[in-house]
Amino acid sequence: MDTVIVLFNRDLRVHDHPALAAACADAWRVVPLFVIDPGVPGGHRAGFLAESLDDLRGSLRERGGDLVVRQGDPVAETLRLARELPAQAVYVSADVSALAQRRERRLAEECERHRMEFRAFPGVTIVPPDALRPSGGGDHYRVFTPYWRVWSGQRRREVLGAPAKVRIPEGLEAGPLPVAGHEPHGLFRGGETVARERMRQWLKYCVEDYADGHDDLAGNRTSKLSPYLRFGCLSPLELESLSENGDDFVRQLCWRDFFHQVTRAFPRINRDDYRPQGQEWRDDEDAAQAWKEGRTGVPIVDAGMRQLLAEGWMHNRARMVTSSFLVRRLRVDWRVGAEHFFDLLLDGDVSNNYGNWQWVAGTGNDTRPNRIVNPVRQARRFDPEGEYIRRYLPELDAVPVKMIYEPWRMSTGIRGYPAPLVSMD
Ligand code: FAD
Repeated sequence: MDTVIVLFNRDLRVHDHPALAAACADAWRVVPLFVIDPGVPGGHRAGFLAESLDDLRGSLRERGGDLVVRQGDPVAETLRLARELPAQAVYVSADVSALAQRRERRLAEECERHRMEFRAFPGVTIVPPDALRPSGGGDHYRVFTPYWRVWSGQRRREVLGAPAKVRIPEGLEAGPLPVAGHEPHGLFRGGETVARERMRQWLKYCVEDYADGHDDLAGNRTSKLSPYLRFGCLSPLELESLSENGDDFVRQLCWRDFFHQVTRAFPRINRDDYRPQGQEWRDDEDAAQAWKEGRTGVPIVDAGMRQLLAEGWMHNRARMVTSSFLVRRLRVDWRVGAEHFFDLLLDGDVSNNYGNWQWVAGTGNDTRPNRIVNPVRQARRFDPEGEYIRRYLPELDAVPVKMIYEPWRMSTGIRGYPAPLVSMD
């Protein structure tokens, strides 16, 4: 072929990018394209996205190519460019959300209408979401453990290097990148270059400690690679392939694949109960607002919620505790909490966010849908010095550790810190 367009989306890298590698092999000229869709507001993730695009453009330019950026409806813009060039094919990385599946279907139809080839490649997950089918029937796995067993034994595709050369047509206007602004929290810088360096450090110094350390709330002992996986700055397959002595870590990567295959089969995961349980939710805006602001009066919950506000990221254990508190204790609909997380998390992605929320709410893939998480017990166990709580709740700085989990038991109370929203007995 003469020219192929590679439409980037949630795969902002040059290493182990099957669609890009195939385009470079199949065509004389390759046009890497990103379309900024004004219909999909970037919110807190806009800065991270802009940095990631800037980095991707740099990597493509080093290889003789460029990143062409357009603005508008991704399908219309891709078709417009394809006809201008002209291109003979459009390649993408297959994705699973309702929006992504709709976009892929429309793109495939339009390409067919204009007699262009359309191909969707793997790369967003380790094992493609449609690759594994339960032997007992059904189009996806509903329970994690059997999925994990089959997933672990599944042969992997080869991890691909970055293309040495990307030949782009001459005279093509690259178009402006979105303005980066700055990432509001300053803790994560977007892009494949930073992602690969963080991955190297993680694999060299930390992954072996993951089994012991991943639940330590104060300890910074998880990879914090989630925003990079979210935007595809890292290939999850490459990360897995390099994670020697990291079985527990790889198991978490499998959770990511698990929720992606659930989402592919149930794209309404962000709206509808996956497994309706007939729960009745309380319509309590004040309680939901207090939860969002980290003012519930339960320190471990408030610490987690304030970490989210301050950093755009939250420790997994804190995500479990805060989400469970909202749905189990306050009885507020999981959708209210999930939307808030989705808006603020740098790693906020449809499959992982809504899949985990439904798991916690008992409407999802948990085999024990009535599981209750006791926030006080969790705090004592995973923040034994109260260090995580103090980091995000400075008003509790002077509270002794034996009181910090349940300040409502102090006879004097704490000035500036609320009493618990619900009874904690
Ligand atoms: P690590 O512990 O280092 O794990 C490595 C990677 O494995 C993560 O980066 C992530 O890609 C994957 N992973 C780990 N745990 C899970 C899990 N439970 N489910 C799916 N994938 C997992 N993760 C997101 O990436 N985006 C979200 O929007 C998101 N929302 C969540 C909402 C709730 C209510 C809960 C309980 C969990 C959510 N998670 C989400 C899962 C998990 O909390 C984060 O992936 C993890 O905290 C990210 O930090 P890390 O990169 O240091 O993880």
